[in-house]
Amino acid sequence: MRQIILHERPDGMPTKDTFQYQEVDVPAQKSGEVLLKTLYLSVDPYMRGRMSDLPSYVEPFQVGKPLNGGIVAEVIESDGSVLNTGDIVTGALPWQEYIAVSPDELRRVDVHGVPISSALGVLGMPGLTAYFGMYHIGEPKEGETVVVSGAAGAVGSLAGQLAAKRGARVTGIVGSREKADYIVEKLGFDNAVNYKEENVSDALKAKCPDGIDVYFENVGGEISDAVWPQLNTFARVPLCGAIASYNLAEGEKDIGLRVQGPFIKSRVKMQGFIVGDFAKHFSEAYRELSSLVQSGDILFEETIHEGFDQVPDAFLGLFTGENIGKQLVKVAAP
Ligand code: NDP
Repeated sequence: MRQIILHERPDGMPTKDTFQYQEVDVPAQKSGEVLLKTLYLSVDPYMRGRMSDLPSYVEPFQVGKPLNGGIVAEVIESDGSVLNTGDIVTGALPWQEYIAVSPDELRRVDVHGVPISSALGVLGMPGLTAYFGMYHIGEPKEGETVVVSGAAGAVGSLAGQLAAKRGARVTGIVGSREKADYIVEKLGFDNAVNYKEENVSDALKAKCPDGIDVYFENVGGEISDAVWPQLNTFARVPLCGAIASYNLAEGEKDIGLRVQGPFIKSRVKMQGFIVGDFAKHFSEAYRELSSLVQSGDILFEETIHEGFDQVPDAFLGLFTGENIGKQLVKVAAP
């Protein structure tokens, strides 16, 4: 079977040389472990941070060792004490085609009426991120104006829909006309700004004439610089991600975030968060999101690459904006 290891730490944008495929034996199960066949593998922007060895909230990947992240898998061998053969499970697991692991590290996927891959997207880590960032930090209210960057992605597309459920007016910032049409026509955002074709500052002034009450921050850089002066008094900023800075080479100057003046004047509250901070509320969020997805009140999209050999391309595609909704790789059929 194949696994993907971190071949070298990238400086700047990762390339195909960042990854290396290795042929290894299917792992032998230790007592109590189950053997999994990988079905879907998630590629996420935060993985870029783990490819560097800078201090962070999560351990860096080790050169020469398998990369890992969210995976949906089928149990193909089990002693039946906790999980049965045929069960579908998810967990943070190594990027390989077969995995031997303790059931303690897995969560059973038992969502009905939605694809099992959603456990890596709208009903997984990105879904929880949007939910807690928007509802626990952004706290949008009826009639307020909310702006979401990265708005057609896994987190942003849900964050905007959740704000609309609270009666807010929602503007999404995206990188293509197709994405702008998708979030407005399909997801019900009030309007969109295409940062590749419009002046973001002017477009926001026109589309958010009452200023901005909540800015859900996914990208950082110059896009966000255009948002800061338009924040209203007592605005809230869930600081979720800053993808525009993830591929800066060593020594390259960071961009954006000259916010002190306008933030003090407007008494803006900006809070960085990691989805794991809300772990004790996960089950309540899963319940609410599952029911919204099953009833069709929340829509989601997945961009799925087919085949284990597609993992590097799928990961690199996150930084060129090729995905609408959650970027995934389908490794095998159940
Ligand atoms: P997405 O599905 O949004 O995929 C990434 C998208 O980012 C791309 O499709 C692209 O869309 C946009 N993008 C890429 N490069 C740039 C750039 N240089 N400038 C502007 N936009 C860019 O990813 P996720 O939804 O998984 O993640 C969104 C953000 O949330 C990331 O910053 C991520 O790190 C963060 N995050 C934070 C978590 C937390 O716990 N705090 C947990 C999960 C995610 P476009 O075509 O519109 O440019």
